[in-house]
Amino acid sequence: MARVRILHTNPALGPLDYRVPHGMAVEPGSLVRVPLGPREMVGVAWEEEALPTETVGDNRLRNVLDVYDLPPLGAPLRRLIEWTADYYLSPPQAVLRMALSSAAALEGGRTVMEYRLSGKSLDKLTPQRAQAIERIGERQGLIRELAEIADVSEGVIRGLVKAGVIEGIEVALDTPFVAPDPGFALPILSDVQRAAADQLVEMVRAQDFAPVLLDGVTGSGKTEVYFEAVAEALRQGRQTLVLLPEIALTEPFLRRFMDRFGHAPVAWHSDLRQSQRRRAYRAIATGEALVTVGARSALYLPYHNLGLIVVDEAHETSFKQEDGVQYHARDAAVMRGHFEKIPVVLATATPAIETRQQVAQGRYREIKLPGRYGAAQMPDVTAINLVQTPPDRGRWLAPPLVAAMTQTLARGEQALLFLNRRGFAPLTLCRHCGHRFQCPHCTAWMVEHRLTNRLQCHHCGHVEPPPRACPECCEEDALVACGPGVERISDEVGILFPEARRAIVTSDTLWSPAKAAEFVGRMEAGDIDIVIGTQLVTKGYHFPNLTLVGVVDADLGLQGGDLRAAERSFQQIMQVAGRAGRGVKPGHVYLQTHEPDAPVMRALVSGDAESFYSAETEARRMANAPPFGRFAGIVISSENLKQAEEVARMIGQAAPEVEGMDVYGPAPAPLAMLRGRHRQRLLVHARRTLDVQNVLRDWLGALDWPRSVRVSVDIDPYSFV
Ligand code: ADP
Ligand code: ZN
Repeated sequence: MARVRILHTNPALGPLDYRVPHGMAVEPGSLVRVPLGPREMVGVAWEEEALPTETVGDNRLRNVLDVYDLPPLGAPLRRLIEWTADYYLSPPQAVLRMALSSAAALEGGRTVMEYRLSGKSLDKLTPQRAQAIERIGERQGLIRELAEIADVSEGVIRGLVKAGVIEGIEVALDTPFVAPDPGFALPILSDVQRAAADQLVEMVRAQDFAPVLLDGVTGSGKTEVYFEAVAEALRQGRQTLVLLPEIALTEPFLRRFMDRFGHAPVAWHSDLRQSQRRRAYRAIATGEALVTVGARSALYLPYHNLGLIVVDEAHETSFKQEDGVQYHARDAAVMRGHFEKIPVVLATATPAIETRQQVAQGRYREIKLPGRYGAAQMPDVTAINLVQTPPDRGRWLAPPLVAAMTQTLARGEQALLFLNRRGFAPLTLCRHCGHRFQCPHCTAWMVEHRLTNRLQCHHCGHVEPPPRACPECCEEDALVACGPGVERISDEVGILFPEARRAIVTSDTLWSPAKAAEFVGRMEAGDIDIVIGTQLVTKGYHFPNLTLVGVVDADLGLQGGDLRAAERSFQQIMQVAGRAGRGVKPGHVYLQTHEPDAPVMRALVSGDAESFYSAETEARRMANAPPFGRFAGIVISSENLKQAEEVARMIGQAAPEVEGMDVYGPAPAPLAMLRGRHRQRLLVHARRTLDVQNVLRDWLGALDWPRSVRVSVDIDPYSFV
């Protein structure tokens, strides 16, 4: 009798065996529908050796009900799922769920009814209906999706359908994607670019595992160069995956891709409608989607015939997932390349120290693009000493920066002010009693957002209207904003340059690829003079007329004392500086700082990245910090403080004595409360060669705690809060 082991997507269920009925073809990787109690579930057939479980007698097995009409998950993806589960100490079921991220792709018909505004208007509208119509705008989707977009109930949407304001249209789900054309618009590469591209093309042809760091300064043409590798994969009929750190970057990427290849790649990100998700997922699984661009979640999709992976802006820490399976998509991408036996290109102007170390040890290749393409020069960088030339009282822009902005605008060029703080002010307090507004669910201040007129917690999303009176002392109109956010800088710019057209760019204003496209369009058309933005504007954009970048608070990233603070600060400022002077006009960068002599500032001003990196690498070596030593974080959380403390203490006391490993804590986490849960932390510090995962498995595996306590392990953590 044929039996098969099935992995489910629910971590509460172990692997289960089923009977394969006569005539049904099931192989490892097959996507199947199986019964579980009274329900039916999706699962994937797996090799028995890889998923040991208790054997159940033949007579107790239930039948596999159905095999879905999609190709089986390939062996390389199955190995990646096992590796991820093993390395990040996560249930394989939870990892598998990332590979089966479109339930709609498996089931359902080939068409679906979607809804959109019909153009008909009504004389009288309830506030809810008006809100729905305004927010839906050009968008389209299922009733449920529209209700979500509009933040109204499904009943409101149905009512509008009945009234004829919203109409249904039948959408074909499986219309094929047109293949990008590798010969559509061939670039003329410079000699350095050509040499780099040839190496990448060679690697794609060789069809073997080859991790490579494509290290080129901002504007050197990294994208143009790796596009040649994509073209080669296309010629071979093999799939490419391009990972980007933010979905807002997919839109500018799509446009460049179209220019080069004539057709769009398949996009994969959280803003897709269910119908788009299904179509993309199926095309990826069948191999029809030749190029996919996406955020980190695109890494675990079941590509049929992968030939190349590119991780763009590979130094970005947003590739690290901070909840659920806490994997690092850059590292997991390299592992996928290993299992698929294909090249993996890590493209960046500011490589992570971890990646540089891999190159130093000969594990990754390195290809360099040392200069900008064409006539463009690297911008010159000047530090503004805030102690010597401070801004006026209650202002944040120092006179030298204001003078530079004045000149830039006079030349008809664009300026960018960078401050990595959303909202108007990071802290609001009462002038009378000193009361500070804190989130009721988190150890965090409420951030004032004037554009939307509310106080918001950036950790859990909790919002409140700003009260007129202080809730503590009842004094009216006594609230003061402390410190600047981008909205406040924008106000200051409005006072200084009343004629200039401003745009604020943050995740509040650029929350979808469509919004990003709109912003790019306005920049290119010259409809914006001054951009005020967070880290969202530091990457990927290419605006030739943008010649001035002002970093409002260059010291900001150095606070907090996280082990990567200096590195991250350097990368972020290099990136934002890299937006200046990308065309023929030269770029200027001003860093406002209280510490112009700090090593990071000196390196940024002199442009000597190499000496900054080597000093920073040495410091890591001395401290046995990554990549020379390793960390693992253990966070214990509960709604009940006592309970969290007790379990944390119990885990701390059970810590094994292992040579080459230290355990710090438990102690309250810096973010001591998050979303209403009290958090305690332990930090494990170990030498590189120690199998920390095994130690943790034995250590935590032997312990028990109440279900209301969550214990999460973060291997190679990037966040220490
Ligand atoms: P990076 O990704 O290294 O910052 P890009 O690939 O974005 O650099 O290139 C910067 C700009 O220079 C882009 O506008 C790009 O189109 C242009 N560019 C780079 N190389 C070439 C080339 N060989 N031919 C034409 N334009 C190029
Ligand atoms: Zn909160």
